[in-house]
Amino acid sequence: GERVGVLALQGDVREHVSTLEGLGADVVRVRRPEELATVEGLVIPGGESSVIDKLSRIFGVRDPIRAAIADGMPVLGTCAGLIMLADTITDAITGQQTFGGLDVVVRRNAFGRQVESFEASLAVPALGEPPVRATFIRGPVVETVGSDATALATLDDGRVVAVEQGNLIGISFHPEISGETRFHRRFLDRVAARRTATLTAAS
Ligand code: GLN
Repeated sequence: GERVGVLALQGDVREHVSTLEGLGADVVRVRRPEELATVEGLVIPGGESSVIDKLSRIFGVRDPIRAAIADGMPVLGTCAGLIMLADTITDAITGQQTFGGLDVVVRRNAFGRQVESFEASLAVPALGEPPVRATFIRGPVVETVGSDATALATLDDGRVVAVEQGNLIGISFHPEISGETRFHRRFLDRVAARRTATLTAAS
């Protein structure tokens, strides 16, 4: 299987590890540059983006992740992970930075507080049928989709909650806690496709 990482600084790491392992991937918990260097793709979990940001700098993995994104490594970010992939946050706390890569503007905590968490049945044309059962937990919303990014899903009120750009996928909700595996599958397919392209280029 594909050898992929889950960024394991903070957040719901375990749920992503088990979803990926269920799909046959070989999963590494990534905290340090040495671990990042061994993987072909990375999942950034939900959690608290300002904490993930701070810890990524403390562990020295921020710049290597930015370099890997620039190099085309596939990355799937959910919730706080989407925030980490956004080029711009509207309401960053002081000093908060992102890895960037997605040409989007994201608003944090766009759906209110933890108690206002909700589930929605969400049509995601790129994934086909059935609709996704999406769990929102203090998730962000994509306020602006830049010209380099594409919306993958919108709520009934028109708010964008999933985007894609090249090998990057960012979603506002948590597929890993509702048994939804198609986003992870899409991510692993990107990893496999990039491996094939690399091997072809080398031969
Ligand atoms: N509100 C969190 C943040 O700003 C994201 C919540 C989540 O990942 N479930 O990072």
